[in-house]
Amino acid sequence: MNRPFNFSAGPAAIPEEVLQQAAAEMLDWHGCGMGVMEMSHRGKEFISIYETAEADVRELLAIPAHFKILFMQGGGIAENAIVPMNLSRAGVVDFVVTGSWSQKSFKEAAKYAQPHLAASGKDSGFTRPVAPKDWQLSSNPAYVHICSNETIDGVEFHELPDLRALGCDAPLVIDFSSHVASRPVDWSRVGLAFGGAQKNIGPAGLTIVVVREDLLGHALPITPSAFDFKTVADNHSMFNTPPTWGIYMAGLTFQWLKRQREGELTGIAAMEQRNIAKAQRFYDYVDGSQLYVNAIDPAWRSRMNIPFQLRDASRNEAFLAGAKAAGLLQLKGHKSVGGMRASLYNAMPMAGVQALIAFMQEFERTSA
Ligand code: PMP
Repeated sequence: MNRPFNFSAGPAAIPEEVLQQAAAEMLDWHGCGMGVMEMSHRGKEFISIYETAEADVRELLAIPAHFKILFMQGGGIAENAIVPMNLSRAGVVDFVVTGSWSQKSFKEAAKYAQPHLAASGKDSGFTRPVAPKDWQLSSNPAYVHICSNETIDGVEFHELPDLRALGCDAPLVIDFSSHVASRPVDWSRVGLAFGGAQKNIGPAGLTIVVVREDLLGHALPITPSAFDFKTVADNHSMFNTPPTWGIYMAGLTFQWLKRQREGELTGIAAMEQRNIAKAQRFYDYVDGSQLYVNAIDPAWRSRMNIPFQLRDASRNEAFLAGAKAAGLLQLKGHKSVGGMRASLYNAMPMAGVQALIAFMQEFERTSA
């Protein structure tokens, strides 16, 4: 099927093979006579879907055994409250603000903890984070929070900070909503990672939390039971009804990821190489053009979400209309930064990037 290329920041494109498999299994999953949305989360059919998804994501992301994988509801925004409720013990928590999403996390945490602003990229207009060596970390924070890819601002930590090297023993919390499964994660540097599924993993409604076991069991008394990580972990994400459809779709995506190959590389390593190549191609084109501009410091440019402006903003609407007519969807930038944004998640093939560049070249030529 010839579908348009979808550049949405999320909910975002899902690999076509995954959608096709879900469609084929919609009415009858593996001959059991039920669709996945209709089956009990405690039945053997769904338990097998859940266990396979969990094992696959553990293998793909090389998640060590001393981390729990939780499938929850609430999305990244709920985690902005759930994480401080579970980890802060109402004490000091350090935040590194690199754009809109970490700013939101910082603000929400004040309801449950004592957030301390360790660094803010605001002075640079969020075109780059403050370098880790210049962070003003507290003497003993409960944890340090970063957003490892800022979906709106287009800034990414390509390497996670090593807090121990900065003299800090606190766990690092990462919001990896918009780069999960696009590259490997160095778990030796992480205490907890959370992310909504709707960018790189599946439909909205599923939140993945990966948490080091020793951080469980310290939730504030006000924490809703369904959001107490220990309760969720002890019940294998089935204390309440988990987002079964989301887990199933994520499971299909994990299987798709395991099938991906780039030369010798497979799975996440293959995706990372592909994502580097796609982003490089796009940034090279933007940097060489007269009409388009991306202001992010090249060392910190996101591979997943690429905001760009037209030097002549009066052409924005014409750009979006032309792109849509050319089969290139959802390129409008977030309202807080304006302009355009191309999200190049795992499901976006290089052919989509090439088609976008071809359209942009033609648009620039006819705009001159
Ligand atoms: N964090 C990041 C980095 C995000 O990109 C988003 C969603 N765009 C969120 C958190 C919030 O996710 P949700 O809307 O699912 O709560």
